Amino acid sequence: MISHIFFDIDNTLYPKSSRLLKEVDTEISQFVASYLSVSVDEAKKMRQNRGSAYATTYAWLSGEHGFGDIDAYMEAVHPRNIEDFLLKNPDLPRTLKALGRRLFVLTNAPIEHALRVLEYLEIDGCFEHIFDLKQNRYIGKPDKDIMKKNVLEAGGTPETSLLVDDMPGHVLSFMEMGGYGLVVDEDGDYEGPLPRIGSVLELTRDGINSLEGSYLAHYGGGSR
Ligand SMILES: [Mg+2]
Repeated sequence: MISHIFFDIDNTLYPKSSRLLKEVDTEISQFVASYLSVSVDEAKKMRQNRGSAYATTYAWLSGEHGFGDIDAYMEAVHPRNIEDFLLKNPDLPRTLKALGRRLFVLTNAPIEHALRVLEYLEIDGCFEHIFDLKQNRYIGKPDKDIMKKNVLEAGGTPETSLLVDDMPGHVLSFMEMGGYGLVVDEDGDYEGPLPRIGSVLELTRDGINSLEGSYLAHYGGGSR
């Protein structure tokens, strides 16, 4: 039985069409431009050419340019003016509470950004705990050991846990760890085998119950 649900934040608890995550990307290019003393256009090109060899822009900056202040980086690239992007929706807290499960956040963003978004959307009270990137030693999803540690710390087991996330790779990894998974795919462009929803607003208690009987939801389409 699914007793614990873990939610990603960005492009999951708010829609991709809000463009908040796009703004983070813009801020990252501005940060790179200022750190390397190049134009923003040049920074974008460098991120594409060199940065793409690394998991994150931060990893590239620290690997090739000696940058080491991850807290300053995280602080700089996460916008404060989230109200310019996000819309409050009273259906969101209602939907989450109606699920009747223990809810947690599992995000690769820092806690400051997580709290800013959750408080603005008025859903901070819906979650028992936020597992953020700092707590997860800047490794985070899709690392299976990290995710399993989070699940156990939340008092659950993989077999009783569900991850709701817009990144299919994170969802698949969570399933391979033994959990249930659900991809949030606003544009309908995900073509893989994992169960999907267009928005977290579609989540219902019955919908979660039906995942429990779904082989696909548990085993990632047999790719385990
Ligand atoms: Mg996300």
